[in-house]
Amino acid sequence: MASDPSGPHIGYYNDGQTAASYEVEVSFGPDGLMFGPPGEAQNHWSYEGLDPVRPVPPSGPARLRYDGAPEARLIVASPKFARDVVQRAPQVGTRAGHKATAKIAALCVAGVAAFAVVSWLVLSAAPATVAALVPQSWWSYMGEKIEISLVKSAKRCDGAKGKRALARMAFRFSEDIEANSVRVYDMPLVNAFAMAGERVVLTSGLIAAAQSADEVAGVLAHELGHVKAHHPEEQLVRVFGLQLIISALWGGTGMADALAQGGALLAVLRYTRSAEREADAIAIELMEKAKIDPRGLAAFFETLKKSQGGDTGSETDQVTDLLRTHPGLDERIAEIGKLNVGPTTPALSDQEWQDLQNICSAS
Ligand SMILES: [Zn+2]
Repeated sequence: MASDPSGPHIGYYNDGQTAASYEVEVSFGPDGLMFGPPGEAQNHWSYEGLDPVRPVPPSGPARLRYDGAPEARLIVASPKFARDVVQRAPQVGTRAGHKATAKIAALCVAGVAAFAVVSWLVLSAAPATVAALVPQSWWSYMGEKIEISLVKSAKRCDGAKGKRALARMAFRFSEDIEANSVRVYDMPLVNAFAMAGERVVLTSGLIAAAQSADEVAGVLAHELGHVKAHHPEEQLVRVFGLQLIISALWGGTGMADALAQGGALLAVLRYTRSAEREADAIAIELMEKAKIDPRGLAAFFETLKKSQGGDTGSETDQVTDLLRTHPGLDERIAEIGKLNVGPTTPALSDQEWQDLQNICSAS
């Protein structure tokens, strides 16, 4: 998509005073970047003054700002540029640990041709394709913002033994899931959420309502199903469209602010009927592979049906309803009931299940 010319690199410059950005040619001068409209390198940004909007990954794009013009942004997609600029101005480089995210074709997002393609895709409703083009680091950033908006002031439950039990459960489903990406918050509502950037939140209310570790495992597998199918990312594209791409490109905070507006969080966390079915199907697959009884998921749906309402209509309570009003609960229970279940082991030992139930009260 983005070629790697050795000559001047094509970039995009915004002076921060107006919304418009324009194409520039960027080259490496002896002590700084020279850039301007094709043929006229009228700007000079010294290497010492460069500051990354976000650390520049080896695969690009480089999103830069400058001491002398803090509002301005210069974006260059080329991986070669990214590597060369880091060599000359090491402070813009990737922090250790960020390298893994480079595998996503981040450079595509900032490429001009890519931008046109992406705009077209957004407008012609192909959220999955668009979602795949946005760098993973940006999804992580968005996921974090969503988590903060969702849990508000709720306490994160950090009981060490409970966390270990939960990590073991998650590990049974997927060896590549980070133990820390599944969290429990002390919230009375009964629910679970999958967020962009491979995050899952379970509420303490859900753990309290569950009759067994297998039920919690069923819910976790369902949320991991959303994660694996990239539903959270696709939903963000669907809700925010082109605004999301522009925000990702400029590294702005507009999206996080937009989430704070009424209804946006709900819309982002609400999946389509077919997405729910897909998450169920992946959950069952994950449970069968882990030799955990998939009927745990159906059992949790039954638990939900029995649990009393009493919601007051606040935004959080509407979120509460998401699982309960998941479409076709009975149909989904029946689907799972038809399965041929082979030998299984409990999702957690009795002791671990106890530990998980105490995750919010223990330290
Ligand atoms: Zn779901």
